[in-house]
Amino acid sequence: MSLGTRGYGFRAIGARELPSIAARAGLDAAQARELAAVAAVLPFRTNRYVLDELIDWTRAPDDPIFRLTMPHPRMLADDDRAEISTLLAHDASAADIRHTATRIRKAMNPHPEGQRTLNRPAAEGESFDGLQHKYRNTVLYFPRNGQTCHAYCAYCFRWAQFVGEPELRMAAAGPDVLIRYLDRHPEVSDVLVTGGDPMIMSADVLARHLEPLLDPRLEQITSIRIGTKALAFWPHRFVSDPDAGQLLKLLTRITESGRHLAIMAHVSHSRELETDVVRHAIRRLQATGAMIRCQSPIVRTVNDSADAWIALWRNEVRLGMVPYYMFVERDTGPRDHFAVPLAAATAIFADAYRAVPGLARTVRGPVMSATPGKVVIDGVTTIADRRVFALRLLQARDESLVGAPFFANHSDTARWLDDLTPAFAPRFPYDQP
Ligand SMILES: *Cc1c(COP(=O)(O)O)cnc(C)c1O
Ligand code: SF4
Repeated sequence: MSLGTRGYGFRAIGARELPSIAARAGLDAAQARELAAVAAVLPFRTNRYVLDELIDWTRAPDDPIFRLTMPHPRMLADDDRAEISTLLAHDASAADIRHTATRIRKAMNPHPEGQRTLNRPAAEGESFDGLQHKYRNTVLYFPRNGQTCHAYCAYCFRWAQFVGEPELRMAAAGPDVLIRYLDRHPEVSDVLVTGGDPMIMSADVLARHLEPLLDPRLEQITSIRIGTKALAFWPHRFVSDPDAGQLLKLLTRITESGRHLAIMAHVSHSRELETDVVRHAIRRLQATGAMIRCQSPIVRTVNDSADAWIALWRNEVRLGMVPYYMFVERDTGPRDHFAVPLAAATAIFADAYRAVPGLARTVRGPVMSATPGKVVIDGVTTIADRRVFALRLLQARDESLVGAPFFANHSDTARWLDDLTPAFAPRFPYDQP
């Protein structure tokens, strides 16, 4: 069996190696200390593949993959960063640093859009930890062993799960809770396994979570989706990891059970699709019968240009993958640093969409996964002399609103749905009168 471009095993690289990473990017000692201060508050993790094969060091620190994966001083407010820097410079105790880091995190909206409360199913006094059920047909399943990733995105909206604060975690120890829930909810046809990254689990552990879904009695389940960034951050997972073959066999068992297996690949930048090992991994995944669909948020300094999306979608289609969503980054964590205003995201999407062939126009965006549902901005237009965003609900908590078009007044600065005001109507369709 080929070992891909290099046959090295996975090892997570953490904040201890930030000084050497900063030096490699040409940063000085003071700048390196700023990165360390950010990494004391927000999760940081990378690996050798990201460092040696994805980052273009001749362009670092402005390289898009460097920006995607490395801390940046502006991810914290100046006074927060200064406070942590002072503690680090004076060798403060771990407890003092933790205390301050915890306070800063709590002010960074760790659970945006009512994730913890609104979508958590509960019935007859039972709780279903590790599940979210927001849209009729699809249940999200968070296996406890899959709540980390092979590297972290600096903008991660799940960041609260990675920083080791137990009250911020929500995950299922095993599949029993999912099976019990499905028994009561025959309307559910899709299970979306997510994290973190479920592909961080060993093939054995992933099989323990997924095989119960293949029971012929559960014929209501027609699609299993697995959300993952492993193709981008650790393609060796499907090529040379010790259990890669076993993992692919598990995926093949899913498709052979007569179900659709969708790999929902998080791909931020076309460079993530250009190494030999990722191309090998894609072919091996496709050979299981899985369909790979691709999605990513639009992120300032990483992929905030039409050219970046044109290259990304063309590369995806060339490799037999399906462009699916361009998301708007959620209102959480270091968003002030990474946010692209809705108007700019809409223009970038439109410019890129026009430039690609129809096969790439399966993509929808920019999409906000917000409290009332998934809202796409179809474009900017002028109606009766008023400049407006045309919006539509692709998914809605209230099912009768799926597909509903509506309008909002144009704004150059709005960054999220709740920054918008309704146009031609007293309220948005999902707002109570
Ligand atoms: C995006 C999402 C889904 C899946 O939606 P699709 O439009 O079917 O891809 C399901 N549940 C939640 C909570 C989501 O955010
Ligand atoms: S892959 Fe997803 S969950 Fe993992 S760090 Fe990136 S955004 Fe967060």
